[in-house]
Formats: sequence, C-alpha cells, structure tokens
Amino acid sequence: MIPRLKPALSWKEIWAAFAFWRKVTVQDFEYTFAKTLGSQYALAFPYGRTGLMFAIHALGIKDKEIICPAYTCVVVAHAIVLSGNIPVFVDSKRDSFNMDFELVNQAINENTGAIIATSIFGEAVDCDAVKKIQLDYPKIKIIQDCAHSFGAKWNDSFVQKVGDCAIYGLNISKIMTSIFGGMVTMDDEDLYLHLKQLRDTELSWIAQIHPLHKTKSHMYLKQYFLKKCGNITKSLKYLCYLLAVWVGFNRYIYGFLNSLERLGLLNRFVKYYDENKIDMPLDYLNNMTKIQARVGIVQCEKYQKIIEHRQKIAAIYFEGLKNTSDIILPPNNAGDTFSHFVVRMKNADAFIKHCRQQGIQLGALIDYHIPSMPTYKKHQYYSHQLSETWPGNVVNLPVHLGVSEVDAEKIIKLFQLDS
Ligand SMILES: *Cc1c(COP(=O)(O)O)cnc(C)c1O
Repeated sequence: MIPRLKPALSWKEIWAAFAFWRKVTVQDFEYTFAKTLGSQYALAFPYGRTGLMFAIHALGIKDKEIICPAYTCVVVAHAIVLSGNIPVFVDSKRDSFNMDFELVNQAINENTGAIIATSIFGEAVDCDAVKKIQLDYPKIKIIQDCAHSFGAKWNDSFVQKVGDCAIYGLNISKIMTSIFGGMVTMDDEDLYLHLKQLRDTELSWIAQIHPLHKTKSHMYLKQYFLKKCGNITKSLKYLCYLLAVWVGFNRYIYGFLNSLERLGLLNRFVKYYDENKIDMPLDYLNNMTKIQARVGIVQCEKYQKIIEHRQKIAAIYFEGLKNTSDIILPPNNAGDTFSHFVVRMKNADAFIKHCRQQGIQLGALIDYHIPSMPTYKKHQYYSHQLSETWPGNVVNLPVHLGVSEVDAEKIIKLFQLDS
C-alpha cells in the first residue's frame, strides 16, 4: 500500500528522539531551521497556529480585519479569531489554488491589519503582487503562511523573504516534521526580540492559565496539570506517538493495516482540529520539547533531498498526465515545492476508491471551504465562486519519499485506464 502521505522519518530521527544525552536545545533547532530556510531568525512554537497567534500579537494587530484565503487550512481562521481579529476570506485565482490578489485589493479597507499570503500546496505565492500591496499600503502587515511551502521560491528567491514574517507547521503531515510544532521566521531583529519575549512569557510552564480554557473546570484542571508537568508528559506522549507513526507508516505494515484510514485512525494521527468549533488544542501553549528539536534538526539535514524528490515526482506526473482528459493539473512553476500534488476531477470519491483497491491511497485535501462552514458563514467573503466547488473534486497524488519513479508511473496508468 502506498499511503497518501508519509513523514520522511528513518531510524535517524528515532535515534535522535531518544538521544537524551545530547546537548541539543530548541534554540539550536531554531538556528538550524532559520539557516536552512534562508531567514535571519526563527522561533519555535508548539503549533504553527500558536506561532500565527503570537505573530499577530507581536505585530500589534488587534480588532482588525485580517485577509486570508478561503481555501486554506481552517486553523488559520481559528488563530485569527482567537487573536482578537476578524478573518476576511478571499477566493483563489482562476488558474491557481492561491488567493487572488485582485480580490485582495477589493477587500482592503482602513480597518485591514494584515494579509496572510499563503503558498498553498507548495505553490509559490505571487510575491510581485505582495510587494505591490506593501508599496500601496505600507501599514498593512504581511504574514506568509509557509506551512505547505518549505523552500518555495518566486523568481529564485524564497517566498518568505517578502513580508514581515512567515509561519510554518511541523506536524507529521507537513513536508518536514518535529512530531508536532511550528516556526515563525523573520529577518527583522526588533520583531524577533519582541516575539521571543512574548513567547517566553506566555509559554513558560508556570504561566497563567490561558483565558481560552478557563470556562470549563475539568479543562482548567487538565490545562493546569499540563502546565505543571507539561514537559515530561508531553515528551513521553510524543515519543510514543513518534514510534507509532514510524512503525505505522512502514510500507508493509501500512498495507497490512490498510483499514487504518477507514477506521479513521490516520485522521486521528494527522487531523487535530475541529472544523466546526473555533478553538485550539489543549496543549497549544506548551513549549516545544527538546525531543522535537532533535528530530527537527535531523529533518533540516534532509530538507534538500525531500524537496528535490517531491519536485522530481511532480515532474513525472506533469509529463505523464498532460494529455489526460477530464482532469485539471495543478499550476507548474519552477519554484513550487509540492506539499500536495492536487488534481481536479469530477467523481473524485469513486476514483479514490478505485485506486485504493489497486494499493494506492490518494488524499482529498482540502476537502472543505472555510466561508461555507457554519462557524464562518457570516464572515465577509470576496468570491469568484471558485474554491467552493473544489471540496469533493480534488485528489492528492502522493509525492513523499516513499513514492518511487516506478510507483509514479503506476499511478499515472490508473488515470489512463479510468478516462
Ligand atoms: C498545517 C497548516 C497550518 C498550521 O499548522 P499547525 O501546526 O497545524 O497549527 C497553517 N496553515 C496551513 C495552510 C496549514 O496547512
């Protein structure tokens, strides 16, 4: 069975996770991450969304509108709301999954505080459009969402070099992983020092119980417990999780457990948010552990190899599928890094089922549309009526290190038999 996603984990990460004697700190991971991604500074957070909340805070944005894509991960909208701001959604461009900057320009008003520039699925965001907004509206902050786009480049330069800061997600479904986790990168020293100070006050083990979880007493207790013993509990939990993931994603075991997905087990591993509730995971203010830092550093060493592999497999798909009727291929720009290779087609469900019977699991991300969700229905949405038609009509072809060139050819054949 070829799984739809597979973290690039080997014995090296497992060894690193258990190497308690190594004097590696979270700060070392931050340093390595920044260097690998070509940024001046990086700050680690428990989740990408926590990093986003803190970045918004550090940029001084409060009670403002924050423009973000309609077709993105819903936790981005949650983080905006929970930071005390209002998300304003913008549809995608016609030939792309990324947000349409013409619509962004329509959405801008005097209450706009920031724009989340997302390179969704690893498709580099149009940095010329971003720069133009910076020129026209110097007060509006730009936060790059690079959770899907480690290393994506626009005109040969990393996308995150444009804008105030960038956020990354590091859970096991991302291009690189530190089990869970997030990073914020930036080049500005003042912003770095300010964000670091905010984080170090709010994320210490004996910090105040966060207001978000004050309402329910059992949650309060749980949160309190997490704060007190957070590091030990979290470290043990993450070690077990890492082992389970490593074993579970083995090609043979995954096939043996091929019902994983149908039992909803895979989603339990990679989906840790509720689409219908605006909230955060309970441990969203718990510091990143040293275990995660050690795993993350090994991943940084593999970064180049991971990206190149994804680009290579994507190129095979583009070539092999270019004449296939009834499907729409994703954009193909030189700097894209393909966190997902997303094909649009009718009856995606039936095709996914057919492929699973052939031993290939395809994904269906992103299978929702934020402004259509009950919690966000009342929010402003600048639309071409485009991205609302995508859920249910997209399939993700695997591009991870577990997919060989032969596998990719096999997957291409599945399309040809089908059409
Ligand atoms: C995963 C993801 C995030 C946030 O990362 P978490 O670590 O899950 O909070 C942000 N934006 C996008 C587009 C993502 O896919």
